[in-house]
Amino acid sequence: MKYQTPRGTLDFLPEKCAERVLIEERFRNTFTRWGYAEIRTPTFEYFDALKLGTGDELIESMFAFEDKGGRLLALRPENTNPVCRVVATKMQHYSKPIKLFYIGPQFRYEEPQSGRQREFWQAGVELIGVNTPEADAEVIAILIEALQNIGLKDVRINLGHVGVFKALVKEAGISLSDAAELRKNIDKGNLDALEHELEVLSLQDKLKEAFRLLPHLKGGIDVTDQLLELVESQDVETAIENLRAIVKVLDGYPYTGQISIDLGIVRGIDYYTSSVFEAFVPELDESALGGGGRYDTLISEFGGKDVPATGYAIGIDRCHLALEKQNYEFPSPEIRILVLYITQEERNIAIQTTISLRRAGFPVLLNLEEKGIVAGLKFADKLNIPYVIIIGEKEAKKLEVTVRDMNIGSQESVTLANLIEYFFTQMTK
Ligand code: AMP
Repeated sequence: MKYQTPRGTLDFLPEKCAERVLIEERFRNTFTRWGYAEIRTPTFEYFDALKLGTGDELIESMFAFEDKGGRLLALRPENTNPVCRVVATKMQHYSKPIKLFYIGPQFRYEEPQSGRQREFWQAGVELIGVNTPEADAEVIAILIEALQNIGLKDVRINLGHVGVFKALVKEAGISLSDAAELRKNIDKGNLDALEHELEVLSLQDKLKEAFRLLPHLKGGIDVTDQLLELVESQDVETAIENLRAIVKVLDGYPYTGQISIDLGIVRGIDYYTSSVFEAFVPELDESALGGGGRYDTLISEFGGKDVPATGYAIGIDRCHLALEKQNYEFPSPEIRILVLYITQEERNIAIQTTISLRRAGFPVLLNLEEKGIVAGLKFADKLNIPYVIIIGEKEAKKLEVTVRDMNIGSQESVTLANLIEYFFTQMTK
């Protein structure tokens, strides 16, 4: 195994690559239909720019390196920060809302495991310039649509609000590092560690109870009542009102039963300010297929004033895994016709026939070695190619070819002039 790829990277052989490309195309298609435009940013940037707003967890995972001029660069670990950089520095004059999407590789130095790589692909959308619940709801709606449109079943969304957690932290007046630890334990559902931390923090009992409660507040929007009964805080109330407003807008979309509240979601990236959400399917219950939320202050980190924004990233690798676990049948790659010729004399006619069939939209292979007809037919059989065109000397003179239907083993003569029409008829039968 001399030439292995580095840990956490993958080669995609043609069969798997075709599936990936199909997933990407379907995402692109959904985002475009919702009015989002594609954007691409570099895979590496200045470390100082990439770290803005992201927080320690992501910063520690970055592949950072010096270039030959001693500048500190890093591979991007996610794409929201670069999109915000572009919006703040190059798209100020665009009219709002700005609707963008991206599809591309991201890099994080993490412990590789199933569905977790060091190089992985994300598809994401960013809706910039609107801070209404309608905007939050739209982004969640596209997340569901995008996942369903790639073929996933039983997609569900867990929706929370970091405003609640941040309000509790403010009430509690605890240090940033204590808050970061609490956040991690709540988000990862480490209940013992959470309990242990709450025991050592000096806090009002009601606030301790509120932090303890967060990972358990799951289900309908009414679970938020428990928190309102427990703590009196204007900021908590405001956050919950916002969550309720988003849920109300979502009620107008056709996803009844697919969205649940989960106040235990307090995502690891620092820039979130309000709604946060994650998408799951039952077959990959523990790992989110994608996640995102509102980030109203990130764009101003790159200069200028605050611009409200919300968005998410979907992990393409995990979606691929989820489709496989749901036994999704990817369409098989489609070479429909093989063109064989018997002697060099017929080569030019074979080339012209192949070109005109391809121009008419058919995926066609032309044999490139003198294999003989029997070997050619065997080859077509192996590749499941349904039609073989055989061009022999006599036929070529009559401007005809023989078409063999590999599925039923029959052959017929077709004139070159009628060939395209013949295949259109065959393939729409
Ligand atoms: P995040 O950018 O951390 O919010 O992650 C959004 C989505 O990207 C996750 O739900 C995963 O599907 C995917 N993702 C994040 N990190 C990795 C990774 N190391 N390997 C594969 N997919 C990842």
